[in-house]
Amino acid sequence: MSHRQTRQQLGDFLEGELAPEARQKVERHLSDCATCSDELEGLRGVRALLRGIPAVEPPPYLADRVVARLREQAEQRGPLARLTQWWSETAAVAWPAPIAAAIGSSMR
Ligand SMILES: [Zn+2]
Repeated sequence: MSHRQTRQQLGDFLEGELAPEARQKVERHLSDCATCSDELEGLRGVRALLRGIPAVEPPPYLADRVVARLREQAEQRGPLARLTQWWSETAAVAWPAPIAAAIGSSMR
């Protein structure tokens, strides 16, 4: 499995949403690849951080704008794009208020 394929699956891997076969492929790659292991640790840290922030209901217009913006960015390449893609899928359910507010103000 390539770096790219592995990284695309790290979010699902962390959430335990991969099929057993796909999970084993990711685990095998991670055991040999420090780069992807580091990326997994980074995602894990962000996830823990997000879960530590109390979630509030965002105004509907803000959620739509933020998700649209994150999807745009996810189409670009790079670690930030992959992170925002993972984040938009994970955080779309409940937005942590300080982060949603920070992103909202950066888009004005
Ligand atoms: Zn790798």
